[in-house]
Amino acid sequence: MGLKLACKDLGKQCPFVARGETMEEVTAKAGKHAKEVHGYTDAQLNDPEMQTKIKAVVREE
Ligand SMILES: [Zn+2]
Repeated sequence: MGLKLACKDLGKQCPFVARGETMEEVTAKAGKHAKEVHGYTDAQLNDPEMQTKIKAVVREE
């Protein structure tokens, strides 16, 4: 069993889904995607409110 994070669960019109075995792996992949595709900065992604939002939409699969 792994974890997944769907970009659309963060309110984006985007089919990207990050998958991984750990919360760190999934959030790292999602963060990389958010920077490359949606133009987020590290400062935005490292904001505690944003971190909470991101972790809240990680699901087990
Ligand atoms: Zn996306």
